[in-house]
Amino acid sequence: MYDQKSIEDKFSKIHPCFPVNTRIAIVGAGPSGISAAYALCNLGYNNVTVIEKHHSVGGMCESVDIEDPENGVLQLSELEKELFSQVQTIDYYTTVLKIKGLEHIPVGFYYFEEFMDDPATIGNPVAMQRFYSDTNVFLFWSYGNSANVKGSTVLQLAVDAVKRIGGEVEMVVLQRRFKYFPNVNSQDMKDGFYDKIENKLQGQKNTYYVGGLMAFELTERNSSYSMALISKHFANTDPQPGFPYVKVLETENDLNTAD
Ligand SMILES: Cc1cc2nc3c(=O)[nH]c(=O)nc-3n(C[C@H](O)[C@H](O)[C@H](O)COP(=O)(O)OP(=O)(O)OC[C@H]3O[C@@H](n4cnc5c(N)ncnc54)[C@H](O)[C@@H]3O)c2cc1C
Repeated sequence: MYDQKSIEDKFSKIHPCFPVNTRIAIVGAGPSGISAAYALCNLGYNNVTVIEKHHSVGGMCESVDIEDPENGVLQLSELEKELFSQVQTIDYYTTVLKIKGLEHIPVGFYYFEEFMDDPATIGNPVAMQRFYSDTNVFLFWSYGNSANVKGSTVLQLAVDAVKRIGGEVEMVVLQRRFKYFPNVNSQDMKDGFYDKIENKLQGQKNTYYVGGLMAFELTERNSSYSMALISKHFANTDPQPGFPYVKVLETENDLNTAD
């Protein structure tokens, strides 16, 4: 069930539990990272930096291509290596095509029902959208795999699907591949993957994890998880600061030798 309270309302009742100038880095400016930064700023933290490798923010919501980070900013611990090596993703493609002969199709979102259930049909488009009536540009959604169903196959299958419904592809505007839906298999889950990641890793060594692996691959879920994480680890309900505002108190000795 969704919590109806506004963000401002929720954050007005909790307070930072670290000094507000604590240096905090967030890796990635997708919905998760931006939500975490927003929550921290709402709490009053004023030394928050979001590090984004792409030239713009938004992550998958802005339809940017996500590549393997070769030179990450993090050095992985043994537990991180163990757990993250179990994570797999799904290839998700968006293909934008300019099509002649489908002018009669109204603006809207359409499913290819015949390709939605049977894993043997992977690569075929599962959905199509016409965004604007004054252009012949359509967007197709398809799943691939890293073995034999890659971008070129996905494109060909979309072109074939267009032909079957009476259209002809005039131009391939663009295609993007997303590493979508980070997940672990049932056995790894049964063996305690989430217990370990939430109880042994989350928040250890000043490192916090957000995103589809933790929260499910939906924008709202990721944003909510990030803000809940900030409320849990970076705030409390005590209006009095639980930390000294003065980091090092002067000792009597310091005072005597001050001048
Ligand atoms: C085709 C498609 C359709 C979707 N449709 C929907 C939908 O209809 N509804 C919905 O709710 N969700 C949808 N989603 C899912 C939604 O986009 C994601 O759940 C959401 O974007 C995840 O947010 P995130 O911040 O966790 O990750 P991302 O959006 O992946 O953002 C991560 C960011 O981190 C950056 N980054 C990665 N590595 C580094 C690094 N080493 N250093 C610096 N920066 C780095 C990336 O460039 C990126 O900007 C869709 C996703 C796709 C691909």
